Amino acid sequence: MRPFDYHRPDTAEAALNDASDGTAFIGGGTNLLDLMKLEVMTPDRLVDVNHLGLNRIEETDDGIEIGATVRNSDLADDSRIRRRWSVLSRALLAGASPQLRNTATTAGNLLQRTRCPYFQDVDAACNKRDPGSGCAAIGGELRNHAVLGTSEHCIALHPSDMAVAMRALDAEVVIRGSGGSTRTAGLPDFYRLPGETPHIETTLEPGELITAIRLPAPTGDRQAYRKVRDRASYAFALVSTAAVLRMENGKIASAALAFGGVGTQPWRDAEVDTLLRGERPSDALFDKAGEVLMRNAELREGLEFKKPLAQRVLKAVLTEVTR
Ligand code: SF4
Repeated sequence: MRPFDYHRPDTAEAALNDASDGTAFIGGGTNLLDLMKLEVMTPDRLVDVNHLGLNRIEETDDGIEIGATVRNSDLADDSRIRRRWSVLSRALLAGASPQLRNTATTAGNLLQRTRCPYFQDVDAACNKRDPGSGCAAIGGELRNHAVLGTSEHCIALHPSDMAVAMRALDAEVVIRGSGGSTRTAGLPDFYRLPGETPHIETTLEPGELITAIRLPAPTGDRQAYRKVRDRASYAFALVSTAAVLRMENGKIASAALAFGGVGTQPWRDAEVDTLLRGERPSDALFDKAGEVLMRNAELREGLEFKKPLAQRVLKAVLTEVTR
């Protein structure tokens, strides 16, 4: 690990003033410190954001606001989250291990880096770690890689379970810039597809700080999160599905589906939601939703299994929430 400065401010303003080129904000550090030890990330300065008062969960007029440094375990256990946004609690509990959830923060979870093994190997070509160096994954051994939203420059998966549930819940990221300005971004505007610049993963500008995540009132009371992985715990999703549905008179009145383990960002497809809306649940409808979801999948060698697996998980989740 290389030497670095460490700063521990006690206000968001001071944290932003402390940030300069080469700065990384650190919350739980569960991903950042691993990457620093591997010399995949080499910040000159760490600014600790754990003492800025960003660890509260507060109800708002139409939803709930989650502070950036709320721990994953506290968020999963919050009674309001469990009651109204249960898909989020379930997704959190499906991720990582209890020890990691006790330390990892909400903002850090959104910003965690891919677990592509070539990204973590400083001797491998990787456009995300070293722009322009190539992509060792394409043509390499593939299993935990994306089939949707990929480019010829990067096929890395977004690894978060929490962000998949947040995508289904229409979460907004609250971002503070230097000078006191605040802006919000929905997850579709927050995450970038890899395109030709896979090293730029979000629309966060240098010196901006996530202070909270807002969830509006859920669009449905029938919620589920299902994750398939190589072992029963402490493993990333091969595929996962988050569902938020509302039923009326035997029909699907609203549907918000999001997917993990398939996309370069937490994946949502408006055509899947639209297809389901207004329809009566049936196997044929769920099969059609699976076809729509995977219509543009790039099934490179080693990743062919993702299509039928994602379709089966989607069908199982839809069956569960429309019962
Ligand atoms: Fe790097 Fe992306 Fe290729 Fe993995 S898939 S080696 S992260 S460029």
